[in-house]
Amino acid sequence: MSDPRTALETRVRARIAARGPMPVGEFMALCLQDPEHGYYSARLPFGAAGDFVTAPEISQMFGELLAAWVVEAWQAMGGPGPFALIECGPGRGTMMKDMLRATRREAAFRAALEVHLVETSAGLRQVQRETLKDCPPPLRWHAAIDDVPAMPAVIVANEFFDALPVRQAERRPAGWFERMVSVDDRGALTLGLAPEPMAGDRAGDLPDDLPPLPQARTGEVFEWRPPGPVRAVAARAAAGGTALVIDYGHTVSAAGDTLQAVRAHAAVSPLAAPGLCDLTAHVDFEALGREARAAGARVHGPVTQGCFLRRLGIAARAAVLQAHVPARSSGIAADLRRLTGSGPGEMGDLFKVVAFSAPAIVRLPGF
Ligand code: SAH
Repeated sequence: MSDPRTALETRVRARIAARGPMPVGEFMALCLQDPEHGYYSARLPFGAAGDFVTAPEISQMFGELLAAWVVEAWQAMGGPGPFALIECGPGRGTMMKDMLRATRREAAFRAALEVHLVETSAGLRQVQRETLKDCPPPLRWHAAIDDVPAMPAVIVANEFFDALPVRQAERRPAGWFERMVSVDDRGALTLGLAPEPMAGDRAGDLPDDLPPLPQARTGEVFEWRPPGPVRAVAARAAAGGTALVIDYGHTVSAAGDTLQAVRAHAAVSPLAAPGLCDLTAHVDFEALGREARAAGARVHGPVTQGCFLRRLGIAARAAVLQAHVPARSSGIAADLRRLTGSGPGEMGDLFKVVAFSAPAIVRLPGF
């Protein structure tokens, strides 16, 4: 027996009935961000009891090492004050909490610091407020990075870009056709193609803002995200700042349908139970780098998460923690493997790290 229809599915169907098939990107945006029934608005997705576990939720080591990175990045900027530490998509606020704890003795850094959290979900803002309630300095929340006041900034974003909607197009002999969600003859939600090739489609290339894929074969799917968020991050980095983006994805733009839905740690169909499962897609790091360079930023990396964390000294940090709490020694070793390893279920190779900075900053830790 299938689940009863979710509130969001009713809304998706009403829109399709009124306006016709809906681009995959619009479906993904509704599923994740609808203020009433969207996944991030209506539920608390993280942790062992949730649908997925992120690096800061695996181990405090992650936020602690990022704290060291943030302090060095701020120093490379010349140690400006005041400056904004901006986190995009802070989830439960765990990484920010670990970063603030790990930097509490950095007197000059702390004296200059303002914390700004970019979060659209009212429910997660509440969770973040609770997690960070004992943390000086004052915290401010914003719906978009452009709402953060203009000042020198260090930006961090872990698993933020994968949660932003992707659009998808499929190569057919007549060109690129956008993938759409519609309702089939039997009344089920289904994936299909727009009736006409995409506007701007010339000689089989994608529109102008996308990399041409002259070698693409019929049936291949290409995904891309609207460039607004990465441009906003990169513009702040270019203007005397730094930014660190960590996510799962590929270093070279490539065809592939990576849209995936996860519910209670298991893969489900992206069309099943709209609003109740997490929808993500791989991040195209080549596209991020291209946008960042176009915004005037210097691009560092990408490197794999495993490589990045090892260069920041995760092995030494794990050894210190193990000596401190011998009873947790094997757990800490397991966390280390999960964060840096390259086996199945491990994040070290799948996740990539890229940094953007002002052009004058030529070296950042980990790259
Ligand atoms: N960084 C956290 C959470 C990752 S999940 C961690 O590593 O655990 C994605 C986060 O981004 C959630 O907090 C979600 O509510 C937020 N988010 C998703 N889309 C957003 C958008 N368009 N603007 C701001 N935040 C968004």
